[in-house]
Amino acid sequence: MPEKFDCIVVGAGPAGIACAYELAKAGVKVLLLERGEYPGSKNVMGGVLYRQMMEDVIPGFYKEAPVERPIVEQRFMMMDKESATTFGYKGLEWAREPYNNFTVLRAKFDQWFAGKAVEQGALLINETVVLSCIVENGKVVGVQTDRPDGQLYADVVVLADGVNSLLAKSLGFHREFKPDEVALATMEILKLDKKVIEDRFNLEEGQGCTIELFGDATKGILGTGFLYTNKDTLSLGVGTLLSGMIKHKLKPHHLLDYVKNHPMIRPYIQGAEQQEYLAHLIPEGGYHSMPKVVGNGVLVVGDAAQLVNAIHREGSNMAMTSGRLAAETVVLAKQAGDFSEAFLDHYRKELMGSFVGQDLKKYKDSTHHFDKFPQYFEQYIPMMNRAMSQMFTVDGTSKREKQKKIWRDIGSAKEKVKIARDMYRAWKVMK
Ligand SMILES: Cc1cc2nc3c(=O)[nH]c(=O)nc-3n(C[C@H](O)[C@H](O)[C@H](O)COP(=O)(O)OP(=O)(O)OC[C@H]3O[C@@H](n4cnc5c(N)ncnc54)[C@H](O)[C@@H]3O)c2cc1C
Repeated sequence: MPEKFDCIVVGAGPAGIACAYELAKAGVKVLLLERGEYPGSKNVMGGVLYRQMMEDVIPGFYKEAPVERPIVEQRFMMMDKESATTFGYKGLEWAREPYNNFTVLRAKFDQWFAGKAVEQGALLINETVVLSCIVENGKVVGVQTDRPDGQLYADVVVLADGVNSLLAKSLGFHREFKPDEVALATMEILKLDKKVIEDRFNLEEGQGCTIELFGDATKGILGTGFLYTNKDTLSLGVGTLLSGMIKHKLKPHHLLDYVKNHPMIRPYIQGAEQQEYLAHLIPEGGYHSMPKVVGNGVLVVGDAAQLVNAIHREGSNMAMTSGRLAAETVVLAKQAGDFSEAFLDHYRKELMGSFVGQDLKKYKDSTHHFDKFPQYFEQYIPMMNRAMSQMFTVDGTSKREKQKKIWRDIGSAKEKVKIARDMYRAWKVMK
């Protein structure tokens, strides 16, 4: 008779590890299965890890975890071909405890985090692909792995297998993604001297900065780029919805090359050496794309449940929170001896009541809106940069005359009404 666990967690990313950690801490017999050589070996992230949600799992984690830099400044660059309007916030309250967020490199961080779950008593098995869920009498009772004699059984299975969750799909929870529900992002990790990073980004020793890139970073297609500071590397990446890439016949690595050579970005990365190249999907469909997250004997967490807030580039925090909430439900289910869908629905209610569900609901129409109306990125960012250029060019023209010219350049009265309508629409989907 194969060994039976209380719970099997599939996938050792932030969602799966947080879940396994909490379960092991509560004395639940938990098995964490990962297809990679080690946790993090297959994982991709720009690299902003949110302190609060990680501390909800391990208080004070940053004192020993391999975090790169606490972020003290967040900048936003609205790019055109040869210009950019930049705004942001720098606050030294973020340079000291309790901190706000950190940059991390997932290959290091996930490995450390999984080690903490193992210390609590979770059993971690790497290099094991879960091929399917074993379903008996309408209930998930275990998983089929690619190992010899690879059937493993549990009272409940948590699917934390990431964005493309084949397992949730095979249970009929997911349908196939549409190209406007998922973004393809590519990134590079670029080696650069620590001191050079601090000088270029105007940082004190050890502090970090993030820059989000909009507009020409994606050639005006809906999407974003990012440039984040790590200890002695930079993370530079860019991603757009698959629908945008298909429509514009773009190859993801071409877009990344374009950003690397962009005159607004090139000076930051000059002299840096490519250390790693990574590509990954990001679920960006939001609330409307969420699959069923609970079934008999099964829960779905993290990217597998499409829990990403694309507007605020939050995913790892939602993953960890969902993993933690799933674990809390499993503990209750074990106490009650009830792993039915009706009982496990407690997880869905907790998830939707938390900031995860609330934020996904708040932005539920945003991706589709900005995808449907490409003028926000294609036209309005260049328009803003032209206005900035005119206003700040000192050429003897009076400021009132400049204002009039900017107003004229926006276009006809009809064009102005259209812009006002777009701004109102944008406010409505974001409010
Ligand atoms: C380029 C990029 C930049 C991003 N930037 C940020 C950011 O700055 N901040 C942020 O918060 N979020 C960011 N995100 C999103 C964030 O990375 C994800 O939301 C988060 O990793 C989701 O965690 P997860 O545990 O659900 O899934 P994942 O991290 O994808 O982990 C899933 C795990 O399951 C394993 N697995 C998959 N299938 C199987 C199987 N069949 N059997 C066994 N194991 C399996 C995988 O190997 C992997 O380890 C970014 C994403 C990308 C792609």
